[in-house]
Formats: sequence, C-alpha cells, structure tokens
Amino acid sequence: MKPFTYLTPHTLDEAVSLYESHEGRAAYIAGGTDVLIKIKEEKIEPDYLISLAHIPVSEGVRFNEDTRALHISAFTTHRTLELSPLIRRDYPILHDAVKNIGSVQIRNTATIGGNLANAVPSADGAIPLITMDAVAHIYGTKGERTVDLIHFFLGPGQTVLEKGEILTEIVVPPAPARTGSAYIKFGRRKAMELPLLGVGMLLSLDADMTTCVKVRIGLGVAAPTPIRAYNAERFLKGREVTDATLAEAGQIAADEARVRDSIRGVAWYRRELVGVLVKRMGALCRKRITDEKSIS
Ligand SMILES: Cc1cc2nc3c(=O)[nH]c(=O)nc-3n(C[C@H](O)[C@H](O)[C@H](O)COP(=O)(O)OP(=O)(O)OC[C@H]3O[C@@H](n4cnc5c(N)ncnc54)[C@H](O)[C@@H]3O)c2cc1C
Repeated sequence: MKPFTYLTPHTLDEAVSLYESHEGRAAYIAGGTDVLIKIKEEKIEPDYLISLAHIPVSEGVRFNEDTRALHISAFTTHRTLELSPLIRRDYPILHDAVKNIGSVQIRNTATIGGNLANAVPSADGAIPLITMDAVAHIYGTKGERTVDLIHFFLGPGQTVLEKGEILTEIVVPPAPARTGSAYIKFGRRKAMELPLLGVGMLLSLDADMTTCVKVRIGLGVAAPTPIRAYNAERFLKGREVTDATLAEAGQIAADEARVRDSIRGVAWYRRELVGVLVKRMGALCRKRITDEKSIS
C-alpha cells in the first residue's frame, strides 16, 4: 500500500481548500471502509487523505419541528442511525437498511455520506433515501447547493459531486399521514453480504385505508445506479392496495428494472425477485400502517 499523508481539517472550508491545493493527489476519507480498500487494491493512489471526521458539524439526526423534515448529517455512522429511536419509530425503511450493513464494527465506522458518495449500485443506504424523496446538501468552493438524491448518482462510482465538493447533509421531507415504509436487502447470507437486490417502498393510504395516495418504489442493483420504478408507482397511485394490485405493480417494476448478470446473481433471477419483493414490501408497508393505527 502506497504511503499517504493524513490531513485533519477542522472546518468544511479548510477541508475544501486542502483538497484544492492538493488537487489530483487527494481524496476525502470519512469512515474509510471503502476508500482504504480502494487504496489497498491500488485502484486509487492518493498522496493525501483528507479526513472529514474532525469537522465539528453535528453528527447524527435532527427532526425539525417546524418543517417536519428529518436532517441527517452525512458524517453520521450507520450504527448511530440504527440505534436512533426516532429512525426506528418513524423511518422504518431506513432502520431496515442500516441495521444490515456489514457488521457492527463496520457500522460503527462507516458513514451514510460515504455510502452515498461511493455510489455503488448495491449501496444499502441509498435506496431508502431515494424512496423517501431525500435531498442532498453539498458544500464546495462555490458555496452550498442541493440536489434531489435521485439525481445524485450518475453511474457506478460516479456522482454529481464536483472535484472537492463535500456531501454535508441529507434532508428527508415529511410523508403524509397513514404512510408505511420498508426495505429489504436480498442476499444469500444474512450478514457481511452486499445485496443481490435491494427493494425499498413507501406507501401512503387514504382515510379509508384502502386506496394508495402516494407510493415510491426504490430499487438497488437493478440498474447502474439506484433507481425508482416510476411506471409501477404510476400504476399503483389511486388504486386500491390489494395483493393483486401489489403483484401487478411488482410485475411492472420488474419490466422496467435494468438488471444484468453479475457474480452475485443472473439477470432473469433478479428480475423475478423485483416482482416478488415489490409485492412483499407493499404488503409490509400496509401492515405497518395498520399496526400503527391499532396502537393509537
Ligand atoms: C466488510 C464490509 C462490509 C460492507 N457491507 C456493506 C453493506 O452491507 N452494504 C453497503 O451498502 N455497504 C457495505 N460496505 C461498504 C461501506 O461500508 C459503506 O459504503 C460505507 O457507508 C462507506 O462509508 P465510509 O464513511 O466508510 O466511506 P469512506 O470509505 O471514508 O469513503 C467512501 C468514498 O466516499 C468519499 N466520501 C466519504 N464521505 C464523503 C462526503 N461526506 N462527501 C464527499 N465525499 C465523501 C470518499 O472520498 C470515498 O471516495 C461494506 C464494507 C466493508 C469493508
């Protein structure tokens, strides 16, 4: 492994200007669980690693009572998200995803921002967040900008982040009443496994608890980037949510998925899984809405 100099800026501005002064020879590091492997495997050879771990921005999650939006610092570890009572209670789709990332050791170190910035099609953190219409906050030499997370990913390992830009925060807008959400990471093992397929769903029902008023379906490892199954969403919205309509939505999602063969599974099997898992996640969302109603 090629030696590098480890830099520890204490502000975002310092980090950005260090990157600028070492441009082409520097990389950011948050938890290091992806970037250090890339260095070890000589996929990248930075002379400088600029740590984002010493910047005193609020790590963790914050619920804004006025806007009803959830603010997640990009430097939050998966373990912090997993253990947050707020996430477990109100954002089950995110809890479902982060609790199965790597191992406890990995989750203690790895950050949600690193997961998104690394941009592999199998990133478990990405699917719940695109499914919840999250917005990415980005900081760089030109100041701050925001991008809808669904447009953040450009291809495997590629994002809209320009040279030296830092992902600082992810903001999740409020969902309507009677909303359920769920994520499943489907793999051959339960732990230390990247998904063969990831499916996230968010479903909102009308006051009669029968008709879909809002739906989002997010798919991971179903295309070169995390995607939404827009045709399936259009089909389900306004329809009664039954096992039959969920199955049909699953079939439509399977048809629009751009799955391919990979070392972890073949395309036809992934496509079948999309149909099955969309139906299953829809049923779980519906159950979560019903269970919540029976508590209150
Ligand atoms: C054993 C093992 C198991 C794993 N299992 C899973 C799994 O089940 N599911 C899964 O999705 N992933 C898994 N991963 C991948 C990895 O842990 C996650 O992607 C993790 O969230 C990356 O976060 P990090 O903080 O470690 O990123 P780092 O490695 O520090 O950084 C990753 C990349 O993002 C950039 N970066 C980091 N933070 C920012 C930021 N705020 N702004 C701009 N750029 C930034 C870095 O420059 C680098 O290019 C696993 C990894 C290992 C080693």
